[in-house]
Amino acid sequence: MDRGELVPDSVTNEMVRDRLGNSDVSNGFLLDGFPRNTNQAQVLDQILADKKMPLDAVLELKIDNAEIIKRLSGRRTCKGCGGPSHVEFEKPKVAGVCDKCQGELYQREDDKEEVIARRLQIYAEQTEPIITFYNTKGLLKNISALGDVNSITEKAIASLK
Ligand SMILES: [Zn+2]
Repeated sequence: MDRGELVPDSVTNEMVRDRLGNSDVSNGFLLDGFPRNTNQAQVLDQILADKKMPLDAVLELKIDNAEIIKRLSGRRTCKGCGGPSHVEFEKPKVAGVCDKCQGELYQREDDKEEVIARRLQIYAEQTEPIITFYNTKGLLKNISALGDVNSITEKAIASLK
């Protein structure tokens, strides 16, 4: 993950299979960050076919690479409580210090600009093909991920109605 690579499919697929076996899933669930490639999407199809729980929708949050780099490279994480902040969008009261626990804020290895570039390359190579995969199934909903969290949330909910 520190190099911006994906966790191996065998690991994530089994984690998802395990989690979807829990009883709280029977009323519905939302997967975030999975599947990330065609193999994972096919395994997910198989898991859900076994459970007779087909997907209702796939949300694609669209945003350009420049905005992604701005958001991720400004992200900071607290060494104390693990809480997030951002040098531009969620500034701590004191630079470099966590508002909640006064822990030291640091930049995660996978939020560094060169690693983000690698993550974007992997996204284009491995994840983008699943957009076609789900579009062909008629499940894909596109929303713009520009703007603040509340407006994006509203758009996401509206697209699922
Ligand atoms: Zn903290």
